[in-house]
Amino acid sequence: MQNKNNQATHLKKEILIRTIKAFLTDDFPAKARLIPYDMRPKGCAVPFRCCVYKERAILKERTIAVLGFSIEEYDERISLSSYAQKALKRSKPETLPLTVLETACKGCVPSRIHVTDLCQGCVARPCTTSCNFGAIDIINGKALIDSEKCKNCQKCISACPYSAITKVVVPCENACPVGAIAKNEKGHAKIDFEKCISCGKCVSICPFGAVHVKSQIIDILKHIKENKKVIALVAPAIVGQLPYPIGKIKSAIMKCGFCDVMEVAHGADITTKHEAEDFKQRMRRGDKFMTTSCCAAYNELVDKHIEDMKPFRSDSHTPLYYTAEIAKKKCSDCITVFISPCVAKKTEGMKNPNVDYVLSFEELGALLVAKKIEVNNCPDVPFEVESSKQGRNFPLTGGVAKAVEVATNNDIVCRNVLVDGLNIQSIRELKKYAKNKNCEQGNLVEIMSCEGGCTGGNACLNSYKTASKQITEYASNGKCVNDIEIE
Ligand code: SF4
Ligand code: SF4
Repeated sequence: MQNKNNQATHLKKEILIRTIKAFLTDDFPAKARLIPYDMRPKGCAVPFRCCVYKERAILKERTIAVLGFSIEEYDERISLSSYAQKALKRSKPETLPLTVLETACKGCVPSRIHVTDLCQGCVARPCTTSCNFGAIDIINGKALIDSEKCKNCQKCISACPYSAITKVVVPCENACPVGAIAKNEKGHAKIDFEKCISCGKCVSICPFGAVHVKSQIIDILKHIKENKKVIALVAPAIVGQLPYPIGKIKSAIMKCGFCDVMEVAHGADITTKHEAEDFKQRMRRGDKFMTTSCCAAYNELVDKHIEDMKPFRSDSHTPLYYTAEIAKKKCSDCITVFISPCVAKKTEGMKNPNVDYVLSFEELGALLVAKKIEVNNCPDVPFEVESSKQGRNFPLTGGVAKAVEVATNNDIVCRNVLVDGLNIQSIRELKKYAKNKNCEQGNLVEIMSCEGGCTGGNACLNSYKTASKQITEYASNGKCVNDIEIE
């Protein structure tokens, strides 16, 4: 699991805070233009790149992503103030959730097999004899790999007794479980959105912070400034992000300008009830297994890569679906903003007509800092509708399957199988279940794209361990899902 306490994450956060602060002034475009210069003023130390100009160029690209635009379409002649003006004028945010910062990405070396200084130019030279493609020669007493001939078979790596040969991987390519991102001929990564399942692994792993989520924060702040009724729908994982009771988090969000806050954990209760019924029906008609439907990256995976799994995926809607539906029924002219842990949930929100915008936990954190809101000093206010213990536990691996199990009331024996993280191996297993129309290990398969569940999402603020502890504690005070009334 990625440690979020790194310089790339801090940089993203700083730009978010500066952009929000710029929005809160009387002259947003002019202030936005200054962000790279304020962060790297004349004569300052240059911490990461070759010169101040390159650093500013990257900071400009980052700010453009925070303003919600793709770097792929970016024209460097256009100033940040023009981008800020465009963001203020647009009626809808861009649809694709991710963009790759070209200038930041170019520093990362392409994937290859590499001979290190440990090579002794030994007499046996097992690397040369192990290579079936004649790609290794000894030049000046050291092994050298001809990249034109190398087929990446890696036999030389295991052949060398000094461990002198290594594979240099491109982190994003290596992390992507569906082969949707790769470096192009210009040396920067490009995402194939036909294949991308929005799992966010490339966002978390890139050591240059080059894969960026396009933010919708300006669109949201614009509606708040216009005094629209903006309702926040908070994902259950939010409880793990800040060390305060959820009632305090609710009033802190309202202090940011939202008129109401609803728990998506209540939508999770509705999902649970539907899914339990769905599961019982499927088992009674003789299906061998059912998969749960709550992780958006899993749903994208099935839609784009595992056609055969479609009949085994629960037909129930997700917690967000039900919560957003309730919000719009309650107030048809409201603006709904889903506050979410990851890019997958952002993609889900963007496809749902009842969800107007998505804000990540990271962006919410930046908003609280920019507005100087101390969550601990906010009152602890209750929610209108109480969520269950099981609904509150949805973000943790095993939480969804457990909730469905409880809601089946022992009518059917549940044998839960937990897929804790999507990777090449777990996807291979899922394809096997779909092909065989059977999962030998159990009949209720829960899939979470991130290890640990939503607390491992790319936009989470807290460590998985701390977040899980806080969620478990909050859940323990909830009622049983079977005692919760749903509309
Ligand atoms: S990890 Fe991928 S996105 Fe990040 S710098 Fe390297 S190639 Fe670019
Ligand atoms: S979001 Fe996930 S699926 Fe999409 S490119 Fe990144 S790692 Fe691959």
